[in-house]
Amino acid sequence: MIIVMKQGATPEAIEEVKKIVREAGYTPHDLSGEMRTVIAAVGDGRDKSRLESMESLKYVEKVVPILRPYKLASREVKKEDTIIKVGDVSIGGKHIAVMAGPCSVEGEEQITSIARDVKAAGAGILRGGAYKPRTSPYSFQGMEKEGLELLKKAKDATGLPIVTEIMDSREIDLICKYSDILQIGARNMQNFSLLKLVGQVKKPVLLKRGLANTVQEFLMSAEYILSEGNKEVMLCERGIRTFETATRNTLDLSCIPVLKELTHLPIITDPSHGTGYWQFVSSMSKASVAAGTDGLMIEVHNRPEVAFSDGAQSLKPKKFDQMMKELRPVAVAVGRTI
Ligand code: PEP
Ligand code: MN
Repeated sequence: MIIVMKQGATPEAIEEVKKIVREAGYTPHDLSGEMRTVIAAVGDGRDKSRLESMESLKYVEKVVPILRPYKLASREVKKEDTIIKVGDVSIGGKHIAVMAGPCSVEGEEQITSIARDVKAAGAGILRGGAYKPRTSPYSFQGMEKEGLELLKKAKDATGLPIVTEIMDSREIDLICKYSDILQIGARNMQNFSLLKLVGQVKKPVLLKRGLANTVQEFLMSAEYILSEGNKEVMLCERGIRTFETATRNTLDLSCIPVLKELTHLPIITDPSHGTGYWQFVSSMSKASVAAGTDGLMIEVHNRPEVAFSDGAQSLKPKKFDQMMKELRPVAVAVGRTI
């Protein structure tokens, strides 16, 4: 339920509303914007009449049900786009944020030189995996803590904030120490205990869409994070599994406008994992920008032919630079900057 307060409702009146919400067995979330004071009462739907009857309180304007199964993620609850600030970068506003870097951190020279190159081309955030979710247990699993330390060195050298994946709750403190954004990978999109955990920390979360998950399931996973109190969630479309084998995954571009309608959260597109081939990354990036994405996640490697992971879908720095140049007029055509 959404409880909309009358203009000029006092802090005491707001506290009173929150108290009644708690007594009814719901959790109050204060979603007040500049224009209006709004409390979302989120719970399992029991004793709804208690909330409905709050409409008779003199400082309450109206009580409206939230129809979607995801509540805090929904546009019904929050009309304005959520903007997440990471260092100097704003994600979800007019500017399209670009996160770029290698699939895996492989060494100091590799990560710092790629960081310098992607920064020079216009990326605002450095990506790089230190803990890697690999299909085979015999494949490179990531440099772990050392990888995080190298990411920090690359950040110190360039000023770029970091996004890196957390796979296991045991690594939360360590990764929070080094990373500016916590990435939840596709394979963990429905690891609900991990989602709850990242919901309790004060770090933005980049949630990737599961390999075979619907938009609704995607939003329900975001809801797990939001419901724990972390409001800084961005959704990353990274391709889904279909019958098509010409690409690694099928990048679901239509989910961008669909998500824009359903949620206020920023949307990021990852055409590297979405297609699996560097040759298709540039065109799908342009298409993503045209479709309204708020950000791009792009794998870039200085020597893709010997990359420890995902070389085939990684752009060389020069190609990345070229792509960034080509993206600018597309962004301008849809009223954005990049
Ligand atoms: C990655 O970003 O390198 C990654 C493993 O992505 P995904 O979880 O989308 O497969
Ligand atoms: Mn990868």
